[in-house]
Amino acid sequence: MTSSSFETVDCVVIGAGVVGLAVARALALAGREVIVVEAAEGIGTGTSSRNSEVIHAGIYYPKGSLMAETCVAGRRLLYAYCAEHGVPHINCGKLIVATNDAESEKLAEIKGRAEANGVEGMRQLSASEAMVMEPNLHCTAALLSSSTGIVDSHSYMLALQGDSEEHGAMFAFHSPVIQGRATDGGIEIEVGGAEPMKLRCGLVVNSAGLFAPAIAKKIAGMPSNHIPGTYYAKGNYFTLAGRSPFSRLIYPVPVPGGLGVHITVDMGGQAKFGPDVEWIDDLDYTVDPHRADKFYAAVRRYWPGLKDGALQPGYAGIRPKIVPQGAPAQDFVVQGPADHGVPGLINLFGIESPGLTASLALAERVRTIATV
Ligand SMILES: Cc1cc2nc3c(=O)[nH]c(=O)nc-3n(C[C@H](O)[C@H](O)[C@H](O)COP(=O)(O)OP(=O)(O)OC[C@H]3O[C@@H](n4cnc5c(N)ncnc54)[C@H](O)[C@@H]3O)c2cc1C
Repeated sequence: MTSSSFETVDCVVIGAGVVGLAVARALALAGREVIVVEAAEGIGTGTSSRNSEVIHAGIYYPKGSLMAETCVAGRRLLYAYCAEHGVPHINCGKLIVATNDAESEKLAEIKGRAEANGVEGMRQLSASEAMVMEPNLHCTAALLSSSTGIVDSHSYMLALQGDSEEHGAMFAFHSPVIQGRATDGGIEIEVGGAEPMKLRCGLVVNSAGLFAPAIAKKIAGMPSNHIPGTYYAKGNYFTLAGRSPFSRLIYPVPVPGGLGVHITVDMGGQAKFGPDVEWIDDLDYTVDPHRADKFYAAVRRYWPGLKDGALQPGYAGIRPKIVPQGAPAQDFVVQGPADHGVPGLINLFGIESPGLTASLALAERVRTIATV
């Protein structure tokens, strides 16, 4: 890269997923000049449109982790934002259901962990209380999380984009970041696509989801020992024909390595099962119909009424993992100059679930780092 023909801009956000959009909004609201550069043709075509659209309460994450803190804070901000901006959402609640005595005993531990994270509205239920609430359910006990909900994620992202633009942010689509360089005068980035640009930026926020580590590697001057690995854990969904048999989200007691096959419903009333966990080497969003066998067995433990042939392959999302299969679970990483030593660069790595719920709180964190 030569230093000629660079346009100077205050802030560039790389990626217009839900997190990049929330960051762009927060920076624009703070009075910063913002350009969002997005490789795809529009907002939210990556992981942000391939998830469960659940507003998570913040139950399972380790106390004090960034996931726990930004999920709980982000959830409260998200409900308020949706109410204020007319974004469709429902605070429907969720039941975590035990189907044997050993699982029933785990519910108190889950409740304790949730309350330690500041999650409100957790209540233990007997089997009969739970089955009165959800007549199609089979369980031995349950835990109600009344602050869990669902959101129309695309409407939410459109509202974030609208808010950002109202406060002066600009969006460049079909604009993939190709490479960059840390200089004394700011971060220089080169953008390809239909209208290539060279930008010299006071602040670059790398919010490229699955590609965030790859972009960090392409920024000359970014120390490689601060760039995590890239691993993919696909989550497959199967959809159910007809209306959902439940009015709340139903989750089994978590199994090691995952939340178990659960049922959620979207704002259109479509019920779906998943996501499961399938470690993959390359990005591939196809759903193998044979994976349905495991779903039937898992779901019938709490919904014996599930009929043969009722599940159809749905869609898949890919978790942007930064540690390999079998390694201890990794927290969100929001990395600023105090961490990696490069002025003007903030990287967001490993923003898997609950990134949608946490988006407004993550954006607040980025804004705070950016003003230090
Ligand atoms: C299966 C699954 C289920 C989930 N369910 C939930 C849930 O129910 N609730 C919840 O809170 N969270 C959930 N999540 C997590 C949530 O979906 C993510 O945390 C969130 O969508 C991440 O948003 P993002 O903006 O970081 O990434 P993305 O949405 O992936 O956006 C990144 C953007 O960067 C762009 N980009 C990439 N490379 C470049 C480049 N070189 N130049 C310019 N742009 C680039 C991409 O095109 C993309 O638009 C789930 C995740 C998965 C995988």
